[in-house]
Amino acid sequence: MKFGGTSVGDVAAFERVFHVVSSQIDKHPVVVVSAMTRVTDALLAAFDHAKKGDHAAAIASLEPHFERHVEVARHFMPDGSAVFDSELKFAREELSDLLMRAARRSLPLSMLKDAIVSYGEQLLSRLLAEVLKAKGLNARQFDSRRLIMTDDEFGAAQPLIDETNEIVRLELEPSIKAGEVPVMGGFIAGNRAGETTTLGRGGSDYSAAIVAAALHASELQIWTDVTGVMTCDPRICSDASTIPVLSYEEAAELAYFGAKVLHPKTIKPAVDNSIPVRVCNTFKPDEIGTMILAESGEAPNKIKSIASKKNITILRISSARMLGAYGFMSAVFQVFDRHRTVIDVISTSEVSVALTLDNSDNIDKLVEDLRRLGDVEVETGYAVICVVGEGLRASTGLASKIFSTIDDVNVALVSHGASAVNLTFVVRESDAADVIKKLHEEFF
Ligand code: ADP
Ligand code: ASP
Ligand code: MG
Repeated sequence: MKFGGTSVGDVAAFERVFHVVSSQIDKHPVVVVSAMTRVTDALLAAFDHAKKGDHAAAIASLEPHFERHVEVARHFMPDGSAVFDSELKFAREELSDLLMRAARRSLPLSMLKDAIVSYGEQLLSRLLAEVLKAKGLNARQFDSRRLIMTDDEFGAAQPLIDETNEIVRLELEPSIKAGEVPVMGGFIAGNRAGETTTLGRGGSDYSAAIVAAALHASELQIWTDVTGVMTCDPRICSDASTIPVLSYEEAAELAYFGAKVLHPKTIKPAVDNSIPVRVCNTFKPDEIGTMILAESGEAPNKIKSIASKKNITILRISSARMLGAYGFMSAVFQVFDRHRTVIDVISTSEVSVALTLDNSDNIDKLVEDLRRLGDVEVETGYAVICVVGEGLRASTGLASKIFSTIDDVNVALVSHGASAVNLTFVVRESDAADVIKKLHEEFF
């Protein structure tokens, strides 16, 4: 059971988590938890302050957030909690030391950043375990930095699955067998050298999926602040509704193309181990939410949901001299491989390729290398819109209906047919919300 930041935001939220966990205690849950809402952002901001040399401001900016944890502790443990107090004392001292090092740049910044940001999940998991204990559950905190083993890619570490599976089983299975409820932080992990790494923003969902897979859990539950995966981001269309069932493939496409409710990597461990994923609302625990399974069936209108991702850059590469010659695509992809850059959407003709990137930091060198192959145009400020539904590729007239609904908008790139369940296109970022609202109104 994974609880996100807003699900552990205050006293009332902790109360709700207790009820959700205790109502399913007979299923032997493992609890994975994010940092308290806004804490990860605050830790990252403190790191930025420190980097600029202002160590004092950096540590002071965290005090109100420590206080939010203390408030929860005081409410549930009015006589004090020696365990949580010492964890907080340790976190304060360590953060002060790490922020000082960031100010002096005495260690690699990417390594310091992960070590600093990990205290959100570390503190919260300790606090939640103590609160659950105080309320009578046999909870026990585990340090995820010693459970999930990753490579050295700070900020976006890849789990070493075999090692992680072994450690998770060795550590958690005896605890579960002994009737304990293991509580661990999501998002944070460690490399073989024992240094702290993180799995990328929003990565707690992924941690929970990794643990569920290692333990062959009968279900992975993602508890968040909305009722399941919805027909689109409810912050864009207030009339978005919950989708009762999604296939793994549909959910993966939605997550990848911007449905923040699931981290994009969450689905893979679930698919590999055939674990059903349920997305539920901590604020409305009785609502059923979304079930994600191997097969979901088609929706009557073929479309289940619309996702979008902003801040997209289009690269258009063309090389007339490659007309009729082989090897152009291979040469293009090798450049992306060398620069370790992920391509999202791609569309090709004989001698040109258009593709999108969702991270345009440091693309100057990439573009310079691509220019050796042909002309390169770089266009920023786009959004990817992804329409998802089982049977979308096989249905007739749907693309026409989609594009005629938004016929006043310029579409910069289209990709359809690679996956059976999605149609993806790119529009200007300023048109994105309008496009989604129109499509949502037409199809739902
Ligand atoms: P948590 O802190 O629980 O991980 P997130 O903020 O990461 O929560 O994800 C939940 C949010 O995802 C929702 O509040 C919602 O605004 C957003 N979201 C975007 N697309 C969708 C969608 N298709 N269905 C549900 N929520 C979505
Ligand atoms: N706390 C981390 C973040 O804000 C991880 C997560 O919430 O899943 O990105
Ligand atoms: Mg999240």
